[in-house]
Amino acid sequence: MQGKIGLEEHFALEETVMDSAGFAPETHWPELRARLLDIHERRLREMDANGMAMMLLSLNAPAVQAIPDTDRACEVARRANDFLAEQVARRPDRFQGLAALPMQDPERAARELERCVQDLGFKGALVNGFSQVGDPHTAVYYDLPRYRPFWATVEALGAPFYLHPRNPLPADARIYDGHPWLLGPTWGFGQETAVHALRLMCSGLFDAYPGLAIILGHMGEGLPYSMWRIDNRNAWIETPPRYPARRRIAEYFRENFYLTTSGNFRTQTLIDAILEVGADRILFSTDWPFENVDHAARWFDSASISERDREKIGRTNAVELFGLAPLLGG
Ligand code: MN
Repeated sequence: MQGKIGLEEHFALEETVMDSAGFAPETHWPELRARLLDIHERRLREMDANGMAMMLLSLNAPAVQAIPDTDRACEVARRANDFLAEQVARRPDRFQGLAALPMQDPERAARELERCVQDLGFKGALVNGFSQVGDPHTAVYYDLPRYRPFWATVEALGAPFYLHPRNPLPADARIYDGHPWLLGPTWGFGQETAVHALRLMCSGLFDAYPGLAIILGHMGEGLPYSMWRIDNRNAWIETPPRYPARRRIAEYFRENFYLTTSGNFRTQTLIDAILEVGADRILFSTDWPFENVDHAARWFDSASISERDREKIGRTNAVELFGLAPLLGG
């Protein structure tokens, strides 16, 4: 398929690139590092060779979220966003931006998002899970009441918010002791991000701000497969769930969430996601440079779905969600 658009596609600054070093063996680090720091050379060639019209770019992980000092988190986010805006300005037909946000301070995060959307023309935000705030051992999640004004700004701007994975802190990762291979993309990323997304759904956030659009990668971090059980539980006991939200979790999942194919190139999984949330809420992505564009494209272009769904997932859902039509040639 020609004209595909991807929205979980990462770059790095020299000052954040080492955050990705643990996710490749030493033998592959020089290659991964070069891929992260490149925007206009190798990346564009990969896109051209594999029918990708556009990438929405975002900073690597965990980057800003792992900087406990709020002033420094704000500075790095601002530098990353300014750098990204310059890159997008060189090829706005091929690249658009998702903002990095200093979530350590909800008020400053909201102001940075406003700046990115209104002044820099960014299409939304991508945040790498919880933030460490004040000290490196404190993990703060965005369902907390202090974030409500931030979410009001996100809704008012109409900016989609991509909740991207990071690993849990060591104190919250004891279940993985002795099994480090389960951290990262193997399992830990998905588990961490799925729980964060469920916290948002249970908290009543989407009752207060029904216009929010949250994006999850990796075909929904396992959530589509669990959605029925989360609401049903052991139904014969008939105890209503005790959470602040007014509706069933699956209703928020279907109305406030979008899923991407990033790093999860599996037709069985895609079809399950289509059955749970519908083809209108799934979007193509590769997770470059951690995954290969050709692996994603070759799988997606021949996956056993209808051509109408391929067109939606590959392109038109993103055009609509981010308002990309005026930017895309032909
Ligand atoms: Mn990613």
